[in-house]
Amino acid sequence: MQRLGLLKIFGFEMEKDSYQQVSGQKYECVLFDVDDTLYPLSSGISAEITKNIAVICLFCGCLSQEYMVTKLGIDQTNVTEMALQLYKDYGTTMAGLRAIGYDFDYDDYHSFVHGRLPYEMLKPDPVLRNLLHSLPIRKVIFSNGNEAHVAQVVSRLGLEDCFDGVICFETLNPTHNSSEPNDDDVSEIPKTPVICKPFEEAFEKAFKIAGMNPEKTLFFDDSIRNLKTAKSTGLHTIWVGSSHQTTGVDHALESIHNMREALPELWEAIGASDVCSTEKAAIETPVRA
Ligand SMILES: [Mg+2]
Repeated sequence: MQRLGLLKIFGFEMEKDSYQQVSGQKYECVLFDVDDTLYPLSSGISAEITKNIAVICLFCGCLSQEYMVTKLGIDQTNVTEMALQLYKDYGTTMAGLRAIGYDFDYDDYHSFVHGRLPYEMLKPDPVLRNLLHSLPIRKVIFSNGNEAHVAQVVSRLGLEDCFDGVICFETLNPTHNSSEPNDDDVSEIPKTPVICKPFEEAFEKAFKIAGMNPEKTLFFDDSIRNLKTAKSTGLHTIWVGSSHQTTGVDHALESIHNMREALPELWEAIGASDVCSTEKAAIETPVRA
């Protein structure tokens, strides 16, 4: 088994005590999405992506459609429209496929869709690495991606030791129950057994797993719909990849590199010189791939 990175996936207990807590501290934790948030759309990955997938994950849209055609036997002529609709209705194409009755192994889907991505296009980002290491608050990844994908991206960006924990697909969906017939009213869209952003259930589960108080947590994501749900749960929201303020967004950043300029209070709250046990705290449990 190949070992990638040094991310802690489930170990959140010790990190609560790894940062100096100040009474009345406004923020205690920062949550980060991964795709199109930790790296920009301009990273070159988009050059690998073909037409009609702009609103689906730019990194894996094509391959999820390829999976639908080659593994699930869905008609090629409808697949782009179908994938888009499922993404809109269910948060991810995978969640939508399960909702409408397709049964498949989650690991098979992830290895097909993510296992062949051109990760070499992602380059180390020392600027972001320094920012994260200087940030004196607990940092947790919150991604719909699977564990191996998150580990690959974080490793390629050189950020393996920058986070205190990871909430990913396997964290939110620890078991795959393949037989969940849907007997709901047919006038409503069927429910999906997959827990993922942008649905509130995913956020509530993340808060519980990581022991977060959403009202003292900042959430960085490139997806406006994720941010709108986040805002409704009490999180403070930062839209990455846009400078437009809109409903559900507290701050908008063109790049995550702008986080210190936009949110200087994060570094001032405790005093950056006192901090950051992240580097030593994060080297615990290797991510499996
Ligand atoms: Mg994203």
